[in-house]
Amino acid sequence: MNFLAVVTRKILLIDDDRLQFRLTQAHIRSFQTDLYELEWAATYEEGLASLMSGQYAVCLLDYQLGPRNGLQLIREAVAAGCRTPIVFLTAETADRVDIEAMNAGALDYLVKGEITPRTIERSLRYALKLGETLEALRQLATRDQLTGLLNRREFDRIMADERERALRFEHTLGLVMIDIDHFKAVNDTHGHPVGDAVLREVAWSLGKQVRNVDRLARFGGEEFAIVLVETTREAALEVAQRACAAVASAPVRVGTALELKVTISAGVALLPIHAGTGADLVAAADKALYAAKERGRNRAVAFDEVAAAGA
Ligand code: GH3
Ligand code: MG
Ligand code: MG
Repeated sequence: MNFLAVVTRKILLIDDDRLQFRLTQAHIRSFQTDLYELEWAATYEEGLASLMSGQYAVCLLDYQLGPRNGLQLIREAVAAGCRTPIVFLTAETADRVDIEAMNAGALDYLVKGEITPRTIERSLRYALKLGETLEALRQLATRDQLTGLLNRREFDRIMADERERALRFEHTLGLVMIDIDHFKAVNDTHGHPVGDAVLREVAWSLGKQVRNVDRLARFGGEEFAIVLVETTREAALEVAQRACAAVASAPVRVGTALELKVTISAGVALLPIHAGTGADLVAAADKALYAAKERGRNRAVAFDEVAAAGA
């Protein structure tokens, strides 16, 4: 017997027709492998909720779903950040639905009347493969290679989105800009590889300080940024102070022989209180960060403390 992991992947069928479920299940069972396990959602709402749970490897989605259709469901799921590969099913043979489904984010398209075990097996396999490839590309495009944090490009995108959301829902958006203290000395004394190890450790340490909804990015060289959604001045400043304390209290171990004391400085600014645009928010947090450096490093300063001091 082969004990190597045979991963059973869960497939979600969203279709208001029980017959279609039975048929699809029969097709999938006829593959004679344990690779797929089909689950069924009969309504738009149930289907969307299941899809967004993120536990399915592929989704087979019917076009006709009561008063709303599958195209709307794809758009809604994609807008909410769904990454599950979707294969569109429809009885229509018109090209328009095919193209609309593709544009909405579906990876493949099957005409219901033409589905056979072979076509559905092939479609699932290709959707899975393409989904994995897209996810790998997404990681490459949005993550910093050294630390695994969000990269600058993704930070800019998130900042633009969150600014819009903060203004629309009248929330406060917080930004903490962080810079490692005297980092050049680490590189100069111990070499770049040790500097890289310090960057990774600081990134890891910062990661433990942020909530799931907040976003941590490597802004540039030895600078990091935390985007805090729906926050307050006090809460944002507290995150920044906690981050400083966390990094300062855990010396970075490199190999067995080297232990480095590392500190960071942080600047905090809030939108719309201190700035109206993403760029101005970064500039305000930067100004506060500069003040933290001036005041002795290893500390967090809020923008209004700088403005109040007339700096
Ligand atoms: P301060 O406390 O004022 O921030 O001093 P600092 O020495 O940290 O400031 P400075 O901006 O002069 O130094 C930043 C250094 O970060 C210089 C650059 O070589 C280094 N750096 C930037 N990116 C990387 C990286 O990816 N790896 C390593 N090892 N070093 C990097
Ligand atoms: Mg710097
Ligand atoms: Mg620095």
